Amino acid sequence: MADGDVVLSFPEDCVSGEEEYVLFRVHKFILSHNSTTFKTMLDKRLLNKRTRNLYKGAPVLKLEDSAEDFNNLLEVLYDPTKIPFKKWDPDTPLNIKCILLLTDKYHFASLRKRIVDHIKEDWPATINEWDIVEFAVQTFKRNDPQEALDNHFPEPGAAIQLARLCNIPEILPAAFYHLSRLHQNEDWDMCWGSSPDEDTLEKVAAGKKRTARWGLLTDQDYRCLVRGRDFLEDALSDTVFPSSILPWTIPDGMCDNQHHCRSLFPNVLASMRNDSRRTRDVLAVLDTYASKDISQEYHLCLLCGAVLNISLKALRGSLWTSLPRFFDV
Ligand SMILES: [Zn+2]
Repeated sequence: MADGDVVLSFPEDCVSGEEEYVLFRVHKFILSHNSTTFKTMLDKRLLNKRTRNLYKGAPVLKLEDSAEDFNNLLEVLYDPTKIPFKKWDPDTPLNIKCILLLTDKYHFASLRKRIVDHIKEDWPATINEWDIVEFAVQTFKRNDPQEALDNHFPEPGAAIQLARLCNIPEILPAAFYHLSRLHQNEDWDMCWGSSPDEDTLEKVAAGKKRTARWGLLTDQDYRCLVRGRDFLEDALSDTVFPSSILPWTIPDGMCDNQHHCRSLFPNVLASMRNDSRRTRDVLAVLDTYASKDISQEYHLCLLCGAVLNISLKALRGSLWTSLPRFFDV
């Protein structure tokens, strides 16, 4: 910026061994207005103490960050429409990470909020939002079977890494739940990396699967994943399934034959459990059973079938709100 009134200086990597710098001439007002840290650093008296260097009449402030990263930050600071964000883009966390880390470091509060709000939009916070994304995925599978889902929907590995680095815990329950549905051989790098594995790519394409950047997960993330999977697997076990929501516990229920309906219920539960193990998606299984004609299919009475539908829907909602506890996030 030719009319900038302060110069930021960054070290440049160079092979000669001599110190070289990259300089950005910027406006104090823009930095001070957006960042409390810069407001302090650019205070006249402090600035005079910090630097006696002038570059073409403007004080020079030396920073140790990457010049390229800071340049990206300046671009979105001067023009927030340049924030690299496309809805459900699997690369967003990687594209935004360096900028977001700088907004944290220098307390660019409103820019940080704007970026974080974008990221949160990609990962559902409620079961209704989750269902909207799932519906979009299913529609996409039907309408464009040749196109890879990975190109159009968020990827959990990079999202979890970003959430941990930049303190965005709100996106972790949905990201971990989605990750828990995937197999480890459904690997992003093996499909889309520099040397893709043809077998993996074929299997992912044939099954219309999504993949994850498993390599970005930490040991802690793996522990959270295993813990959450255990809870989700137990959700439909005989011992954990909440018997209080079953219809024959209603005192003045109108079930035709409680003994008969009660004896058939284990068949419904076993069937849901099998589907859940096969798909690794208990939320989808509960959604299916909450809307199917249980009385017809499993020979329960009409009332028990209807009450079960409602109960399974409620169980689904309570599983969703339990995700932070299940995954310990
Ligand atoms: Zn009944």
